[in-house]
Amino acid sequence: MPELPEVETIVRDLKKKLPGLTIDRTKIYDGRVVRQGSHTEFSRRLIGQKIKRISRRGKAIILDLTPSKDSWIIQLGMTGQVIGPTAEGAQAATKVTFQLSNKTSLHYNDYRTFGRLQVVKSLDEISYFKTIGPEPLEKNFTISWLASQLQNRKMPIKPLLLTHQFVAGIGNIYASEILFASGIDPRRPALSLKKKEITLLHHVTRKILQEAIRFRGTSMNTYRDTKGEKGSFKNRIRVYDREKEQCLTCSSAVVKEFQAGRSTFYCPRCQK
Ligand SMILES: [Zn+2]
Repeated sequence: MPELPEVETIVRDLKKKLPGLTIDRTKIYDGRVVRQGSHTEFSRRLIGQKIKRISRRGKAIILDLTPSKDSWIIQLGMTGQVIGPTAEGAQAATKVTFQLSNKTSLHYNDYRTFGRLQVVKSLDEISYFKTIGPEPLEKNFTISWLASQLQNRKMPIKPLLLTHQFVAGIGNIYASEILFASGIDPRRPALSLKKKEITLLHHVTRKILQEAIRFRGTSMNTYRDTKGEKGSFKNRIRVYDREKEQCLTCSSAVVKEFQAGRSTFYCPRCQK
């Protein structure tokens, strides 16, 4: 599932290519990903609009349109891909194609169709934006904020990091990696973390997310950038999806456990 670094990679690519282009036409091959009153309304609110600005909030891509001042939201779900702008045609997994004013197209691909495409007047129309926590790479994600949020929570730290209302954009891969790099056992109640551990957790969260952006994300399965290429952070993964393999620090076997319905990977010796 694409997380903050993967979505940020896509947004940075799109920022270089899309601003100033107008959407000329939409081709909806599979409307299940269009979460609008009707497909006609979705297309009507896009066609003729110019893409003004592209940004990210959590795992959502936001394209601001002019002159309507609407926002076109793309949420990739489990297996969404944004490919283009390209002169190439639709692929097998393409659900919607957007033809642009420079004769290129943007393709939205999705294998499992959990993605969401919609056009809104205000981000408040989407509950995800109303409830989302701070961006871990922004200034308001501070050590003191993190400490104050952890102090009353009995929830184990790993599922808490995955909660988008707590902090934006962190999913299963990066939560596992962040806790490994912090030396914190994912099962620890959030309130049990000491000041020193919280400081380290804060530092490592930013460091790993920034590093993953630099390596253009992690391609475990279907994640691809806008050129259809894989991200290379997978080569830097230390514990995620490495059950029974040797810990890269101490050679103990990496353990896989289920926590709140999600798989968690950790080293029982390095993470206390
Ligand atoms: Zn270890």
